[in-house]
Amino acid sequence: MKALLHVLAMVVAAGEATAQGAPQDDQCVRERAAMVETIRAYARSAGSGLGPQGLPERVLEAMAQTKRHLFIPERSCAIAYADSPVPIGLGQTISQPYIVALMTALAEVAPDHVVLEVGTGSGYQAAILAQLARKVCTIEIIPQLAETATKTLRDLAYDNVSVRLGDGYVGWPECGPFDAIIVTAALGHAPPALIEQLNVGGRLVMPVGAGYTTQQLTVVEKIAPGKTTTRAVALVRFVPFTRSQN
Ligand code: SAH
Repeated sequence: MKALLHVLAMVVAAGEATAQGAPQDDQCVRERAAMVETIRAYARSAGSGLGPQGLPERVLEAMAQTKRHLFIPERSCAIAYADSPVPIGLGQTISQPYIVALMTALAEVAPDHVVLEVGTGSGYQAAILAQLARKVCTIEIIPQLAETATKTLRDLAYDNVSVRLGDGYVGWPECGPFDAIIVTAALGHAPPALIEQLNVGGRLVMPVGAGYTTQQLTVVEKIAPGKTTTRAVALVRFVPFTRSQN
């Protein structure tokens, strides 16, 4: 009798947990799925630079699997799954999901790749890359953001991501060389050290132009040692790339 009561208590407890936890989770899952469909449709329309196939399915799948609401301060699904940038504090923003997907697709990240991100911010772009590549190295210049992103990525068990506090202008040679590089802050030129640390055949994707204005989302492909090709793909708006003072 005692054992039966114990089992019943467990069943009731499980029922309560479902009743409290499920509706919000269900809504988040629905909103995330809707976000993926929005960006899929958007990518097929004008100006994505991706051709008629639009975004690769594996990129969309990574977007569908990643809980963006856990990377923003409010942790709200209604905010997280609108296809918009969101402030993450200290004057920085997490990019619009479509732009995250577009940059990931343009970088042509493959499962055996080692990828560098400059501008960790919330850690969301790094989490997307972590599902598509073997290893992700990401650099953030603002200490509080580097700390929070490290914690978020650790709590969510993204074990193949390393976060470093520092100026990404000089790259991270010890973590590379890299098969793909994504820079998520705007600068007038591609940092030479990043091109140097990119493998031949690899792509660097970054907004080229001044911060807070409109920039050209640019793909630099390393076609031979010391030789690159560059193409501008879309107009974007990113926060500025800053340099360390020392
Ligand atoms: N990829 C982020 C969004 C980044 S916003 C995400 O998914 O949330 C751009 C980030 O670049 C900001 O956090 C900013 O602090 C950082 N940043 C700017 N200049 C930098 C530099 N020189 N090195 C490293 N990070 C830099």
